[in-house]
Amino acid sequence: MVKIAVASGKGGTGKTFVSTNLYQTFLSRGVDIALTDCDAEEPNSAAFFKYEETGGEPVTQKVPVIDLSKCTYCGKCQDWCVYNAIVILKERKIAKVLDEMCHGCGACTVACEYGAITEKDMVLGEVTKYSGKDKSSIVEGRLKVGVYTPVPVLKRAILSTTANVAVLDSPPGTSCPFIHTVNASDYVILVTEPTPFGLNDLKLSVEILNQMGKPFSVIINRAGLGNRDVHNFLEREKIELLMEIPFDKEIASIYSKGGLVISEREDIADKFSYIADVIIDKTRAC
Ligand code: SF4
Ligand code: SF4
Repeated sequence: MVKIAVASGKGGTGKTFVSTNLYQTFLSRGVDIALTDCDAEEPNSAAFFKYEETGGEPVTQKVPVIDLSKCTYCGKCQDWCVYNAIVILKERKIAKVLDEMCHGCGACTVACEYGAITEKDMVLGEVTKYSGKDKSSIVEGRLKVGVYTPVPVLKRAILSTTANVAVLDSPPGTSCPFIHTVNASDYVILVTEPTPFGLNDLKLSVEILNQMGKPFSVIINRAGLGNRDVHNFLEREKIELLMEIPFDKEIASIYSKGGLVISEREDIADKFSYIADVIIDKTRAC
């Protein structure tokens, strides 16, 4: 399977806009493709397609349970937990696991020499599948409200994707969820906007992708807004500018109504068709 991550250093740059239109472009060519929504804190890709829900499964993680009748309040589990998910107060005989902070690493279970820790399953979120006609499919990772880490959910969403090509709509930012998504991909498209915030977050994303050795190129959304600093940065760093999407009221209007711009604007459809050709070439070479 070839996986293409569509990512950005900040939210609101048009990542989902690019993901959904790129997916539809490939789909209209008859490619066996899936759209995987890895933005598990706020998935919305499925809203652009009138697909049927065809399945789902909860995503769980092991979290520790402390048996107070065996616990000596030695504090070793607390010391071993780098996520500060265990509180031990020996004087007050308190031993508590903060389930929402737990990353399920299992270190505390190994640390406890008194057999006081067992594990239970905690639901972190769910993965839902949607299907349309032909070979179309969307896999959506959705985090449960109150859970802090979307990583296990988005990883399961990626693992649950079965198609020859997958477009991964990545979580915004440059933290763990972004890293895990781009790490699972063969090629990354960074979406940015020509503003100081866009440039700042683009630089962070570029730095990380370079360190990871991931091939990538850039799309500038809302071109015409702001200044030329992003263009200058790309030229200076010799980063490929894949496409510019103009700052256009009609495009914003179509997108805000849940429409696919390539279905209504031939000029944008041509641009996405070009991107699809480029991606095919690049991923063949990967
Ligand atoms: S390591 Fe075991 S015995 Fe020690 S505080 Fe933790 S649960 Fe209790
Ligand atoms: S499983 Fe890992 S993260 Fe969770 S409480 Fe134990 S040590 Fe901390």
